[in-house]
Amino acid sequence: MNTTSTPLTKLYDQNNQLYGVLLSPEFWEEAKSVLMPLLEKRSATQEETPEPVKDWKMLLDYWDFQYPPDTRVECEHCGNVTEDWMNPEGKTFRLKAANLGGLVNFQCLNCSSRVIKRHFKDHYRFECHPYTPKKDKL
Ligand SMILES: [Zn+2]
Repeated sequence: MNTTSTPLTKLYDQNNQLYGVLLSPEFWEEAKSVLMPLLEKRSATQEETPEPVKDWKMLLDYWDFQYPPDTRVECEHCGNVTEDWMNPEGKTFRLKAANLGGLVNFQCLNCSSRVIKRHFKDHYRFECHPYTPKKDKL
């Protein structure tokens, strides 16, 4: 590839302190498959991606189950329970996805388990998938 940019450019402030590293677009293309999972892992705990609350509201709009919606979530893995996952105070679950079929995905902020709230016609139940870090191929 014919490019004049170096893959890595270190950035220094006035005091010659390293404060960042710039990746060339070419290098970013190569590196992002490695870096993106790391970034996602960080954002999972740092709440950088907004919750898809719109999808949850949409499910509420089209609610046709035989019971009223509730906001209870429980993690079977660590025993984490909330009566209202939307309450920002003491938030212990993050909404990850919701769809009109009644599948609502949460992440337990205590143990990182994926908790699925699965709605059926006359009841719902929780499924808990404990978090397993993706292992690099050996
Ligand atoms: Zn948990």
